Amino acid sequence: MGKITGFMEHERIEEGYKPVDERVRHHKEFVIGLDAQQAKVQGARCMDCGTPFCNSGCPVNNIIPDFNDLVYRNDWRNAITVLHSTNNFPEFTGRICPAPCEAACTLNVNDDPVGIKSIEHAIADRAWAEGWIAPQPPKRRTGRKVAVVGSGPAGMAAAQQLARAGHEVTVFEKNDRIGGLLRYGIPDFKMEKTHIDRRVAQMQAEGVVFRTGVLVGSLGEGSKVTNHAKETVSADELLAQFDAVLLAGGAEASRDLPVPGRELDGVHFAMEFLPQQNKLNAGDKLKGQLRADGKHVIVIGGGDTGSDCVGTSNRHGAASVTQFELMPMPPEQEDKALTWPYWPYKLRTSSSHEEGCQREFAIATKEFVGDKGKVKALKTVRVEWKNGKMAEVPGSEQVLQADLVLLAMGFASPVSPVLQAFGIEADGRGNAKASTEAVGGYRTSRDKVFAAGDMRRGQSLVVWAIREGRQAARAVDEFLTGAPSDLPR
Ligand SMILES: Cc1cc2nc3c(=O)[nH]c(=O)nc-3n(C[C@H](O)[C@H](O)[C@H](O)COP(=O)(O)OP(=O)(O)OC[C@H]3O[C@@H](n4cnc5c(N)ncnc54)[C@H](O)[C@@H]3O)c2cc1C
Ligand code: SF4
Repeated sequence: MGKITGFMEHERIEEGYKPVDERVRHHKEFVIGLDAQQAKVQGARCMDCGTPFCNSGCPVNNIIPDFNDLVYRNDWRNAITVLHSTNNFPEFTGRICPAPCEAACTLNVNDDPVGIKSIEHAIADRAWAEGWIAPQPPKRRTGRKVAVVGSGPAGMAAAQQLARAGHEVTVFEKNDRIGGLLRYGIPDFKMEKTHIDRRVAQMQAEGVVFRTGVLVGSLGEGSKVTNHAKETVSADELLAQFDAVLLAGGAEASRDLPVPGRELDGVHFAMEFLPQQNKLNAGDKLKGQLRADGKHVIVIGGGDTGSDCVGTSNRHGAASVTQFELMPMPPEQEDKALTWPYWPYKLRTSSSHEEGCQREFAIATKEFVGDKGKVKALKTVRVEWKNGKMAEVPGSEQVLQADLVLLAMGFASPVSPVLQAFGIEADGRGNAKASTEAVGGYRTSRDKVFAAGDMRRGQSLVVWAIREGRQAARAVDEFLTGAPSDLPR
């Protein structure tokens, strides 16, 4: 345990943010991480409680009390070893995880939780800066070949684990760069892409082969999903060439809003807007960019994707940014006695909201109104929820000006033709059907085809994708060797 009385002596220290007027002028990260002394103080606050709820609140089960203690004792080198024992990419989660561990921290019952995520962030960044993170090539090769389809956090975590177990791993990615939504969804201001590039280099040195611009199967006619593929490989070719295939293609089918006027110019999916800015930040030239400069932007959808559209629109210099949420405004403070140690339902205000955004709750869009084929306004109505059912509030109709509308209502499922190409069964929500059981988990209905991440569980979080990638790697390893795996579950 850090310091026995640390939780009584020290307050929680939040990571700093660069000022709004400075950070909206660029697309780079703006969080100021804890320095070594601040991280030590945070580590000292950990009570090392007998039952560490933080550990089960964390989807990868990070061994949080141990790394808190190591940071408190200035043993950063062992802290990164502990962190890596459960999480392949703590520099990703240390930046963009919503930190369910902190909701579960025992100190959160009647005080502010330990700043676990900020400690994780500090450990990972220090380990990279000190050169402690090096490739770990396997001592022995098995000669077994695995194809991983999709290079998001699930595919990356699985590929790294499988390569370290000695298998020959090839990652197929339809886009021109590795990283999935980390690369082309999440804006640079939340996570710069050098963090992915460093891991890709590490994994290449461990033997992973990355093949970008290669689509496996098909996306279906007229698909608006991000796709930079120059080459296509069929599911049958992959099955013939590899001993096992892991599908980690994410859940890319965006939810649409099929109301009158949907076809107007200026109404776009968030995932048509965000990847363009990520490409520009990477130095690519685009023929034409969807931009928000001087426009009245309405973002429909109140989640992470919507918030990222808000932040990007403000960086473009939008005239106004409004975000719609169908549900009523949640309470600002949760009732901890009812919710702890679970993830509470409460109002969440992101750094992007703080940069300037009008938030509208309990509002629905009835129609997009256009002029000469371009969107100009939205017809809306207020809604109320009774017994879980939504009803429109009579007389609450409004017309709101909008030159750019971004649909950020989440993702319905994986792109179904990809699953169909492999002939695998889908679950009731259209995801690849596979359990997470310790024995036989992550297997689809087709022999030697496995599934993990958003493609299996539906749209979720980076930390869940990493967990599923790690667990699926273990399942694939056991399938290939016919013996219990040494990979952690
Ligand atoms: C805008 C946005 C912001 C988000 N912000 C956060 C956040 O702050 N924190 C958080 O934890 N989570 C966030 N998420 C969710 C998180 O990014 C996802 O849950 C996570 O990336 C899922 O990982 P994955 O590996 O399963 O799939 P993905 O990251 O979706 O990667 C799948 C990859 O597979 C590729 N692929 C798909 N089909 C094929 C095919 N047939 N052939 C070849 N390649 C294929 C795709 O091109 C893609 O690169 C956000 C999501 C979005 C859209
Ligand atoms: S990965 Fe997320 S939940 Fe787990 S310790 Fe880090 S911040 Fe917490």
